[in-house]
Amino acid sequence: VKRPQNSRFRPARPEAALPAPGLPTVVIAGRPNVGKSTLFNRLVGRRQALVADTPGVTRDRKEAEAQVRGRDIRLIDTAGLEEAAPETLFGRMRASSEGAVEQADLVLFCIDARAGITPADEHFALWLRRQGRPVLLVCNKAEGRGGAAAAMESYALGLGDPIAVSAEHGEGIATLMAEIADLLPPPAAIEEEDEPWYDADAEDDPEGEPDDERPAGPLRLAIVGRPNAGKSTLLNRLLGEERMITGPEPGLTRDSVAVMFDDGVGPVQLVDTAGLRRKARVDEALEKMSVSASIEALKMAEVVVLALDANLGVEEQDLQIARLIEREGRACVIVLNKWDAVEDRIATRKAIMDRLSISLAQMRGIEVVSFSALTGAGIHKLMPAVRRAHAVWNRRVATGALNRWFEAALERHAPPLVDGRRLKMRYMTQAKARPPTFVVFGTRAEQTPEDYQRYLVNGLRETFDLPGTPIRLQFRGTK
Ligand code: GDP
Ligand code: GDP
Repeated sequence: VKRPQNSRFRPARPEAALPAPGLPTVVIAGRPNVGKSTLFNRLVGRRQALVADTPGVTRDRKEAEAQVRGRDIRLIDTAGLEEAAPETLFGRMRASSEGAVEQADLVLFCIDARAGITPADEHFALWLRRQGRPVLLVCNKAEGRGGAAAAMESYALGLGDPIAVSAEHGEGIATLMAEIADLLPPPAAIEEEDEPWYDADAEDDPEGEPDDERPAGPLRLAIVGRPNAGKSTLLNRLLGEERMITGPEPGLTRDSVAVMFDDGVGPVQLVDTAGLRRKARVDEALEKMSVSASIEALKMAEVVVLALDANLGVEEQDLQIARLIEREGRACVIVLNKWDAVEDRIATRKAIMDRLSISLAQMRGIEVVSFSALTGAGIHKLMPAVRRAHAVWNRRVATGALNRWFEAALERHAPPLVDGRRLKMRYMTQAKARPPTFVVFGTRAEQTPEDYQRYLVNGLRETFDLPGTPIRLQFRGTK
């Protein structure tokens, strides 16, 4: 299903000084000078706020009506508010945004791609994550190819995929608007809190299933794992078996190369194949290096192949890398390499599977493929598993089916009491894929305890066939 192409902004009515009440509220926050006012103007579509080079020039909170994919929103720019008291920059950012974030249906957290991530950004991101409001991470000043490094770095903020834009040059704005629209509460949910927000008997998703707007480029694949797991051997084997589209070319990070091949389904780009540049500095702390190298690689990948030496079993470092993959929200396939050298295959597989299911509960159902990169035996199983993991990671669940399940799940096991009051959950929607991300709406829903969150995630995984992918759950409370 193609998403309607009405995502280009339409300038607000010139006379509309203040937004109408009841509109979903989108708040732009971030430290001074990252371009909040510029972004505000860009989204509103006219020069409403004053933009200046000196931090803190825009003194009043700016509000205006804007439109994203046909929905009117109330947009608030917090720029300039950081003049207020507290000493630290983070303190000022927080003070300036606190009231606004409380009202926000969505926060656009802006960073400056040119300046990179600062400690104030990090503190603020941490604080924002605790506010329980949906947040979109906006990496501004990323015109041209500028700011790719900052975009990578910004994954560490734990706010999901950054959206690279240039507020000044208008790049990436349509994508940003589409993402904003995806995260707004459904139209009916805004006004009447006590009416049911969703009619479970209605047809599936009246708005249609939004497709991911990213271009259908090559599948981006990374191979990670401890030193000696066989990553380079696997890489060479893959490139030997599959049709290479182009030769090695400089990759996105230092010391990496990228190669493209076709696995018969479509193009695949191997990212950060540091292994091709063979062990340059052998005496470097290899253990430590393999984890940090993995971080770089998996940030750029859609699917991550975690290679284990089956003869060594699962070690803490493997689990550490697997948890990183989960935290970064990547699809994953686990490979048991050197299968040719395993003596008792049944016992080995069982031992490894047991260890994984205990230690990686968050990624239940992950595919585990065994083969020998050295001889090539079993290697044909890898790419189909990668494609399946990619498909699950991209999956969108229809809103109707989702809410029929949600209602039943709430009935089977009622949300718990928090401070003696029952949480009221009303509606669930899948805000995003890659990885599947669901938003629960309800009264004080953001207080949902972790075990109940796990109950919902496990139910989603089983009911909608989402094995082996990270699943994100967000909560949006209403007052
Ligand atoms: P605020 O303090 O966060 O509201 O930031 P402003 O919107 O006032 O912008 C701060 C500075 O960054 C101004 O000089 C803008 O012209 C500049 N700026 C804003 N957006 C961009 C952008 O996309 N690219 C570049 N290169 N500069 C930008
Ligand atoms: P990397 O450090 O993860 O890139 O690992 P390499 O690809 O350099 O492999 C490390 C060692 O394991 C080399 O001696 C390889 O020949 C060996 N190796 C890799 N794959 C296999 C395999 O499937 N079976 C066996 N028996 N040895 C393998």
